[in-house]
Amino acid sequence: MSYFSQDELRCKCGCGEYKFDDEALSKLNDIRRDFNRPLVVTSGYRCSKHPIEAVKATGGAHTEGKAVDLAVDRADALKLLKIALRHGVQRVGVNQKGSNRFIHLDWSTDLTSPTIWSY
Ligand SMILES: [Zn+2]
Repeated sequence: MSYFSQDELRCKCGCGEYKFDDEALSKLNDIRRDFNRPLVVTSGYRCSKHPIEAVKATGGAHTEGKAVDLAVDRADALKLLKIALRHGVQRVGVNQKGSNRFIHLDWSTDLTSPTIWSY
């Protein structure tokens, strides 16, 4: 059982590809279970032609299907972060300025880890 549908996690460039990693999805579901409220995915899997990835020299964790951006802010963002850390997440991106605030979580094993960054 998954809290997230394939539609929520598929590439949004128009290709509609779904290559989200099963193990990452399982870890995401564990976090969602503890969060105990719906989480809005603003970005899940991204193919290499997705406009955000197309400008990068090398693919990020989204192209591995091992990353999500979750639309949370303020108290919810902190709550999500606490739960994610408790679940062993080793790579976190924080965008908590202005509108469209989100927390990026990923489970890439190819990219630098542990790490945290802001946008
Ligand atoms: Zn795509």
